[in-house]
Amino acid sequence: SLSNRLGDVFGKLRGRGALTEADVRAAMREVRIALLEADVALPVVRSFVDQVTELAIGQNVLRSVTPGQQVVKIVSDALTEMLGSETAELDLNVAPPAVIMMVGLQGSGKTTTTAKIAKRLKDKERKKVLMASLDVNRPAAQEQLAVLGTQIDVATLPIVAGQQPTEIANRALQAAKLQGYDVLMLDTAGRLHVDQQLMDEMQAVSRAANPAETLLVVDSLTGQDAVQVAQRFTEQVPLTGVVLTRMDGDARGGAALSMRAVTGKPIKFAGTGEKLDGLELFQPSRIAGRILGMGDVVSLVERAAEMIQADEAEAMAKKMAKGQFDLDDLRSQLNQMRRMGGLGALAGMIPGLKKAQAAMAQSGADDKVLVHMDAIMGSMTRKERAKPEIINAKRKIRIANGSGTTVQQVNKVLKMHQEMSTAMKKIRKMGGLKGLGALFG
Ligand code: GDP
Ligand code: MG
Repeated sequence: SLSNRLGDVFGKLRGRGALTEADVRAAMREVRIALLEADVALPVVRSFVDQVTELAIGQNVLRSVTPGQQVVKIVSDALTEMLGSETAELDLNVAPPAVIMMVGLQGSGKTTTTAKIAKRLKDKERKKVLMASLDVNRPAAQEQLAVLGTQIDVATLPIVAGQQPTEIANRALQAAKLQGYDVLMLDTAGRLHVDQQLMDEMQAVSRAANPAETLLVVDSLTGQDAVQVAQRFTEQVPLTGVVLTRMDGDARGGAALSMRAVTGKPIKFAGTGEKLDGLELFQPSRIAGRILGMGDVVSLVERAAEMIQADEAEAMAKKMAKGQFDLDDLRSQLNQMRRMGGLGALAGMIPGLKKAQAAMAQSGADDKVLVHMDAIMGSMTRKERAKPEIINAKRKIRIANGSGTTVQQVNKVLKMHQEMSTAMKKIRKMGGLKGLGALFG
């Protein structure tokens, strides 16, 4: 996947102490291939890679102490910018009823997203919402919306057989005005492919309803096709934003990257499931992190750098280099984790540490457990913390009693220490001590 490929490229870069221009160019070639394979449109890839390369081979970057880290941050920032930098909310600041028109191919998720947005507006902004389906092509399409409306307790326009889309739109507009609705959502018909008849229909409805928002709904799993679809719609309908559906699945991310560049419009929402609460504001930095396959590593590194003293880190690095990660170290690690927002906040943030995390999760290391673990290590003697291997059965009982825990829990701490020192040796081998490894020391 795109994530895996980029993760590899950046794993390598991060691990390097010094970088040459050739290193950066080689990495960018891989980035280019990875993006193309993920269905990002060629012109988008080209301008992205050019821009990033230029920034990354800047003198200050290559001469800095952590060039690999910096290059990764440059790429991450560029990705975020490409995705739109900030979350974009709906703009419904017009005389009511504010019309939201949903367009897109058949099966892209228009009807579902119509209901999701209606629910969101109703629940979060206390808006009075009316939904109307203009889909006269697909049998039972209008009923589908009515059923969803019942589920979320949002009104739908009564169905009248034999009307054309613009007629329904006009009727809906009238009803919304007369009955004092804040928002009118128009769910339009799709096609299997973009054709002129569809476009004509969209334009006619758009003229009739004068929407405040026209949202293109795109299935993020359809890759390059999605890009072409977006292109066609952009040319013919005045879009104000994009919704990417099926972001809950194994979305390749490529569609998301191209979408902003191709339409010139912000991605406003991500659909994250079939359920009607599966809708999120699109968050570019999070998606960028996901595409880079490194969790939210950049902000993690920034946060870690703020919280961990450099000399403390240096001392820890030396110890780890000698394979001397003892229980005192584990204890201070765990305390650092607590300072940084607990295990939950760290989950998924640390590439290469998945295994240690899994081990921790298995040993039940949730935030409450962190407190117990601290107590257990507090009940050990200094000698025991420095040399865990001397902790025999008798000592374990004493430690358990002293900390108000059980021998089983003591064992878990010891096991976790082992797993973590193994994981750290691995990170060290990857050369990540200076940057990522700094988190742990
Ligand atoms: P339309 O033809 O564009 O109106 O598409 P529909 O709204 O009828 O959706 C087609 C299918 O996609 C339905 O089975 C939906 O449940 C599903 N779907 C829509 N959005 C999402 C999403 O964000 N995630 C997932 N997993 N499924 C979705
Ligand atoms: Mg539909």
